[in-house]
Amino acid sequence: MTAPPRPSCSTRGRISGTAPVYRPAIATSLHQQSTATHVATHGPAPAPRTPQSLLLKNASALLGPELEYAPSVDILVVDGVFKEIRMGAYTGATDYNDAADYNDGAVATRLHHDISCGVMDCEGLLIIPGLINAHTHIGDSVGKDASLKGSVDDKIHPVMGLKPRILARTPPAGLVGFMRYSCISMLRRGTTTFVDFREGGRDGIGMIKEALQDVPIRSVILGRMNHYQTADEIRSNTSPFTPAMEGELECLLHECDGIGISGANENSDDALCHYSGTGKLRAIHSSETPESVSRSLEMTGKSETVRALALKPHILVHMTHASTEDLRAVAGSSEIRGIVVCPRANSALAEGIPDIITIGKQTGCVLALGTDNVMVNPPDMLREMDYAWKTMTAMHKTPVDPTEVLKMATVNAGRMLGMPVGVIGKGMLADCVMIEKHSLDLEPMHNPHAAVVHRTTESSIRAVMVGGRTAHGKII
Ligand SMILES: [Zn+2]
Repeated sequence: MTAPPRPSCSTRGRISGTAPVYRPAIATSLHQQSTATHVATHGPAPAPRTPQSLLLKNASALLGPELEYAPSVDILVVDGVFKEIRMGAYTGATDYNDAADYNDGAVATRLHHDISCGVMDCEGLLIIPGLINAHTHIGDSVGKDASLKGSVDDKIHPVMGLKPRILARTPPAGLVGFMRYSCISMLRRGTTTFVDFREGGRDGIGMIKEALQDVPIRSVILGRMNHYQTADEIRSNTSPFTPAMEGELECLLHECDGIGISGANENSDDALCHYSGTGKLRAIHSSETPESVSRSLEMTGKSETVRALALKPHILVHMTHASTEDLRAVAGSSEIRGIVVCPRANSALAEGIPDIITIGKQTGCVLALGTDNVMVNPPDMLREMDYAWKTMTAMHKTPVDPTEVLKMATVNAGRMLGMPVGVIGKGMLADCVMIEKHSLDLEPMHNPHAAVVHRTTESSIRAVMVGGRTAHGKII
């Protein structure tokens, strides 16, 4: 029998129809404003142009991978990248590769010669790395608080939940419009990169790209095949991959940054193994609820997380109800780059609270933070950090360094993604947040890291920079 032909990878058409009318004034699309290292910027490459430089003078900043506080610093941004950093009292490293040429006088000279461009006096500002929301589903932005009753599956299960019904009955333009709202909302609260589990196959990817057209935020889009297997298919380890489906997967991966699998309970071992052969980022939900953990055991006799490892995932999401054995299995996996925890979403869904400290200790993994479904939790990383810090402290009845929480929202997430973001250091992409040190809620600022983690709000953010350009607010 002849195999059915594979679909061609032609680009899908733009979404038509009327989007919500709310159109706040924002900077132009990220795709048009930076020639920096490619990071999930979908669309045509920008045309070559004259290098653009900006010197941010007299700022306080959290520098390098340790987020060390520098009370007074000059930061030179060239073509969307942190080029040089000149400190007063600060003597630590500011990049991963070369920490040798600071405080030697030469840096100051180079800065002096390079500042034929714009100079901004940032006195009174604390500059921190742009926040990274490491796990979202902005596709359900239309369903905010549509149901507060029922189980997790009743609300957001990709097949049986309220979510797919809401999505099915909303016109694509409406979905796109509310996804755009979420992107703008994240930007205003300091998020400069987000990692989205994008359901709906290639059409879903087309929608998020449409939403991002004029919002200068970085996106990492993890697409998903619009195919979920039944319990019987999983028990019998049936492969879903026909030649047509393989072709569709190839096309899907061509259009996004990797795959975001809903979970082991919707995929057979064979399917997970098949996905493990894909070359881009691989991420999967795991052990989010007690029900999902027990369903896996009932169906297959194996734990959900152990089954998820068949994907050879780079990123695990949740692990809220992972057992000690699960955490041990993850610790032994060489592929995993990090775990994303979502404490507010888990709490909102009455799932419990992830024991972040134990997950980190027992797996040895890099930990990042995500806000998960917009339907159940606002995509606000400032509130996510606050909640994570308080719950970590309360669960272990011991002080937790807020720097470690801020790292989860910046440094760790960048490292997990393998992207030059999340750190203010030489050679990193110039994504940062300018916070007013003297704002009502922050002054006097005795501990900058604590101030960011649990006192900073949208109103204390002066501006947000993405790729060296002001994406929100005004620096001066
Ligand atoms: Zn999720």
